Amino acid sequence: MSDPRKYTILYVDDEESNLRIFKNTFRKDYNILTATSGTEGLEVLNTQDVDLILTDQRMPGMSGIDFLKKAFSKYPELNRILVTAYSDYDVLREAVNELKIFQYVEKPWREEDIKTTIDSALEIHRLKIENQNLTSSLLVKNEELTRINKELSAEIDRHKQTQLELIKEKEYAENCNRLKSAFLANMSHEVRTPMNSIMGFVDLIFEDYISQETKREYMNIVQGSCSQLLHIIDNIIEISKIDSGNVELRKVKFEVNDVVNYVYKSFSAKVGQNISLSCNLAQESILIYNDSLKLEQVLKNLLDNALKFTTKGVVEFGVQLKADQVFFYVKDTGIGIDPENFNLIFERFSQVENAFSRKYGGNGLGLAISKAYIENMGGKIWVESELGKGATFNFTIPLD
Ligand code: ADP
Repeated sequence: MSDPRKYTILYVDDEESNLRIFKNTFRKDYNILTATSGTEGLEVLNTQDVDLILTDQRMPGMSGIDFLKKAFSKYPELNRILVTAYSDYDVLREAVNELKIFQYVEKPWREEDIKTTIDSALEIHRLKIENQNLTSSLLVKNEELTRINKELSAEIDRHKQTQLELIKEKEYAENCNRLKSAFLANMSHEVRTPMNSIMGFVDLIFEDYISQETKREYMNIVQGSCSQLLHIIDNIIEISKIDSGNVELRKVKFEVNDVVNYVYKSFSAKVGQNISLSCNLAQESILIYNDSLKLEQVLKNLLDNALKFTTKGVVEFGVQLKADQVFFYVKDTGIGIDPENFNLIFERFSQVENAFSRKYGGNGLGLAISKAYIENMGGKIWVESELGKGATFNFTIPLD
């Protein structure tokens, strides 16, 4: 029975008396396995755990060196000691240089000498194993650290991302807030103007000293102010429908030129003397299946703006068929728009001037509504302009 607290040594020698002496001398210090030939020694190595090999050199059949070669190629970690006569000089050189044996012991050996050699070989073997274990546990720890490091950087990236998203959301909320405040300031002005006129003129209508003719004139003004108010209220309702995703398309089959012509007629009556309004219909008939009322509304919004921002000059609009798209444009020679505001003007409640410096009126909703309508109808809207050089609003609607 081998003692698990002791190292196990394999001693190979063809002379059984040598094996016996070795065994008797060292059994108290080590577990000793013996073999009388290299072949037998290899079998022992195959079946048992061995910490150190000692072998005689001169053996019939397989020499000690040949046995060690085979053992070395299979168990390179095992420490090896060659026991040989001093005269085997070439053998010794090969054993030390190629087989990297730990040491050789001269025959006949002395107990203290061979014990010192065995113990140093075993100690080195123990240190090697310990070193290997430490290295592999370091490798495992290192891998673990690399993994934790990766997880940490991923976590940091996630945090950074969340932080960026939060900053964006905060900026968006602040922007909404700013726009809403501007809108309210603007709205109260927009609503007050027609309301003041309604209240003022209604008071006058009740006065006896005002003639019937003047009263009729005042009633026309009140009517105009009422439709202005209605327009504002309609816009607010529309934008809240858009915000809640409730824009409904009422699709019908219609002739595009009819809508453009209708809009032209309704506007030509109301353009001032300083403006020349012209309209270019498409050369061919364009029948589409879409929301004709929303198309009409967009054209009206764009024309309202073109006329509002052009005090003197030309306003032209029209339609053309371009491949599978119906292309519309509304062009004016008015105040123009700085390209850096191209995105801003399509946002709800946005106007290039602020509420206090504006002189053109409006509530900053027309383009936001138009953009939402066009996109709902499957098209795109964009503007081309330069400050002081007029503006052209373009949009498309798919032919299908
Ligand atoms: P508003 O009721 O204020 O006109 P819109 O949404 O229709 O609201 O337009 C937003 C802003 O875009 C306007 O206040 C104006 O600053 C700018 N804008 C729109 N159309 C034109 C145009 N044809 N020429 C110059 N500026 C324009």
